[in-house]
Amino acid sequence: MTISPLAERLFNFSAGPAALPVSVLEQVRDDLLLLPGAGVSVLEISHRSPAFLEILEATKSCLRSLLEIPENYQLFFLQGGSRLQFSMAPMNLYRSADASADYVLTGAWGNKALEEARKVGKTHVVWDAAETSYDRIPGEEDALEFSADAEYVHITSNETIHGVQLPATPPNTEAPVVCDCSSDILSRPMPIDQYGLIYACSQKNAGPAGVTMVIMRDDLLERSGANLPGYLNYREHAEANSLYNTPPTFAIYVMGLVAKWLQDEVGGLANMEARNREKAALVYDVLDESPDFFRGHARPNSRSQMNATFRLPDAECEAEFLKSAAAQGLTDLKGHRSVGGIRASIYNAMPREGVAALCSFMRDFRDRHAG
Ligand SMILES: *Cc1c(COP(=O)(O)O)cnc(C)c1O
Repeated sequence: MTISPLAERLFNFSAGPAALPVSVLEQVRDDLLLLPGAGVSVLEISHRSPAFLEILEATKSCLRSLLEIPENYQLFFLQGGSRLQFSMAPMNLYRSADASADYVLTGAWGNKALEEARKVGKTHVVWDAAETSYDRIPGEEDALEFSADAEYVHITSNETIHGVQLPATPPNTEAPVVCDCSSDILSRPMPIDQYGLIYACSQKNAGPAGVTMVIMRDDLLERSGANLPGYLNYREHAEANSLYNTPPTFAIYVMGLVAKWLQDEVGGLANMEARNREKAALVYDVLDESPDFFRGHARPNSRSQMNATFRLPDAECEAEFLKSAAAQGLTDLKGHRSVGGIRASIYNAMPREGVAALCSFMRDFRDRHAG
């Protein structure tokens, strides 16, 4: 008799690559030797084979329906992660040598995006929360002054490292909004028609590492210059239906299963958002109960539903927290090396039971260690 490995699965709070739904992993396992209809594994077939083309179309159509992507938007899949998008967005969207783009900085990733755009052309920082260590998003009192001639406005919907999240509706601007949605894509509905370009690597909320989805308004494709290197040209990918070169077939297949899980088992993004809100509230309630012991990084109205970041009284206590959590099967809770502390990433696939287990561990730990 074999014991199911599921019985030993840990609750993994990794920020990415992150937990995947168990039913998706089971499906991958079941299909691995013999993908129905293909006769062999999905790992072994041509990206131009009918079996893969079917997977590609099913994945696209499921994502289109979940995210309610309008007809005049392209959806395609790239490699290079979101980091490559930090460069591709300005390389494709700047229309002249003295063009400039606006950047709203709510954390570490926005800064990295800005750094890459600066290599391409002029930039303007509209808002920057560096002074308060990226603990907040712009509020009503922060009138954002966008440049009149910006090629686009760049935002980061969820700052994975600092744990702050913008609302799903982007700021109202003349220029198209470009959004790094890497760590909250598919976690809630969003008005796609209010964005120009959305990009998201898959390994936080949408699948395994290796594929990045790009959602782009048709008219913006005209900006991509003919002299761009082929792979870096959005138009090439849109026209080739994600088959400009060999795409990451396995990652696309798993992402398709995650999308199907969201549609069939979760029942769509509004349901997913409700589940995510509930999970995040469980964690933040523990922080709010004992603000002297658990010091949340983000201000309450800026909190991320995906990554809860907090500190304990001192570094020794944090190390002890991580060690005892791991001993109870609650892993990967260490904050990013740049900010320290604790980070609980509770993406779509983290079940409510995992969050509940974390919360009861936190209360217990606090009761044992609070002075
Ligand atoms: C993880 C992450 C990235 C980087 O993604 P890569 O796939 O490693 O390039 C960029 N932006 C955000 C918001 C992220 O969470």
